[in-house]
Amino acid sequence: MRMVSIASGSSGNCIYIGSDDTHILVDAGISNKRIEQGLNEIGLKGSELSGILITHEHSDHIKGLGVLARKHHIPIYGTQETLEEIAGTGSLGKFDTGLLTPVRPDVDFFVGDLRVKPFRIDHDAVNPVAYRVQRGEKSVAVATDMGHFDQYIIEHLQGLDAVLLESNHDVRMLETGPYPYYLKRRILGDHGHLSNETAGRLLNCILHDKLKKIFLGHLSKENNYEELAYETVRLEIDEGDSPYGASDFSISVAGRDRMSEIVYV
Ligand SMILES: [Zn+2]
Ligand SMILES: [Zn+2]
Repeated sequence: MRMVSIASGSSGNCIYIGSDDTHILVDAGISNKRIEQGLNEIGLKGSELSGILITHEHSDHIKGLGVLARKHHIPIYGTQETLEEIAGTGSLGKFDTGLLTPVRPDVDFFVGDLRVKPFRIDHDAVNPVAYRVQRGEKSVAVATDMGHFDQYIIEHLQGLDAVLLESNHDVRMLETGPYPYYLKRRILGDHGHLSNETAGRLLNCILHDKLKKIFLGHLSKENNYEELAYETVRLEIDEGDSPYGASDFSISVAGRDRMSEIVYV
């Protein structure tokens, strides 16, 4: 499999995961034009996509979905509640709702030769999920938009070969920053977003010898910056009680406006 972040951040998310024969996206939260440009950079066309996995209905995850679905007629996977929200928003324009394919948390399904496991995350959306994608012995996951993590999340992120994990904000930047009080409470709450520190603590619970790549993603534009996320997460790993240090792993930030490197697992 290979995995590449086409865009990741609070302004738009779109992650490609694929094998030789099957190509999927996790979220389509940037313009269709940018999605197609990203796919072109890895030698693909939008028409070659086999499916789009949607985590939840927030616009930074579905912005390009309407155009993509209309143009290429690609099946869209998400929980029933998420799909109902998507079908109900006028912002995506008209598209064939027959493409909407409901999935259930913890019930695996196949898209081509990729086995997909949706799992629950706590976030202020109707029924959000993250996705783990497996082919043979290899697995990768995209886990963003969660207010906190628990044993259930840790278990679903064990044994991965690559992960894109949310590292949304620096708590001090958020607390002292310009956001209104209610929004600060929302982001810091159990149904908000993972801070840099919390991302590091979660990583400490899932690190293992074969974890080849860690992408830090879904960074807030206002309440974080790349070096801070990177250094904070590294510090949490170095100071955490896992047997590993940050330098044992390849860690990088998945950018808002640029493609990440391609990871092969
Ligand atoms: Zn969200
Ligand atoms: Zn989001």
